[in-house]
Amino acid sequence: MARRAGAQARLETLGWLPYAGQQLPLQLLRLGTRAAGAPALGLFGGVHGIERIGSAVVLAYLHSLVASLRWSGLTHSLLERVSLVFMPVVNPVGMLRGTRANVHGVDLMRNSPVEASEKVPWPLGGQRLSRRLPWYRGQALEPEAAALCQAVERHLIGRPFALALDCHSGYGHRDRLWFPFAGSKAAPPRLAETMALRELFLSTYPNHNYYDIEPQWLHYMTHGDLWDHLTLQHRDSPGIFLSFTLEMGSWLWVRKNPLQLLRLTGLFNPVKPHRHQRVLRRHLVLIDFLARAVESHALWLPDAPRRDRLRQEARRLWFDGEQR
Ligand SMILES: [Zn+2]
Repeated sequence: MARRAGAQARLETLGWLPYAGQQLPLQLLRLGTRAAGAPALGLFGGVHGIERIGSAVVLAYLHSLVASLRWSGLTHSLLERVSLVFMPVVNPVGMLRGTRANVHGVDLMRNSPVEASEKVPWPLGGQRLSRRLPWYRGQALEPEAAALCQAVERHLIGRPFALALDCHSGYGHRDRLWFPFAGSKAAPPRLAETMALRELFLSTYPNHNYYDIEPQWLHYMTHGDLWDHLTLQHRDSPGIFLSFTLEMGSWLWVRKNPLQLLRLTGLFNPVKPHRHQRVLRRHLVLIDFLARAVESHALWLPDAPRRDRLRQEARRLWFDGEQR
């Protein structure tokens, strides 16, 4: 049935990581149409090895999507029109070892060459002093970061419309959807489209009002964010590319179960099974929304007058004085 829908899965290996006498693959999975001109959604997780819940959220959506191929014509028509890219474990060695960084001690979300335009908090914003300290930036692009960039450039950039969602956890009491930049307070390219998507979600799902959809710098600024890097590299590439980081507010789980602080992974992941399930349920609606928004981008992308209004609204909210 999957084949009939043109939806057979394709596994792609982007590189290998030597670890403990073995070679671990850096892989992604593609589902949906192979048409190069189709819109695309990329789902990423596990950039920080300790944030296993991000990988679990991506895999939970993949599971439901594939299971629904057995009975849902809507899933089939979605996959006939959209290309889906899944990279649920960007940092497999970090995940095996239960560390945020990769095997070289590098924080992959500080690893791109982008320098923040303002002073960032040290060492949280990224540091090159020592790999033994957290948030180490490394010296060159690490293989995992290169693989993520390759996945984006190969399968998302240059399409008429493409969107990436990168799932993380560990910051604050709220679930946040961050868009670029992390390293600059400037408005990102495609601000009007980002605002249109935000408005679309808020108006379609008024009861899912647990996401703050905001630029990342509002919370903290960093050097080397990979999504900043990809956004800047491709600001003039054809097509529309948007990226969001889902930062699941893990303090919510910690507050309800303080004992989980005794385990380091408990800072970043819900420990109790019912809470783990609840987190997985919570974000399925969002990912389903994103897939449908990608599929129907032509129906909601703003025209010129609306783009102006959306940019004004964004300026009012965050970019006061920004003349873009
Ligand atoms: Zn993270």
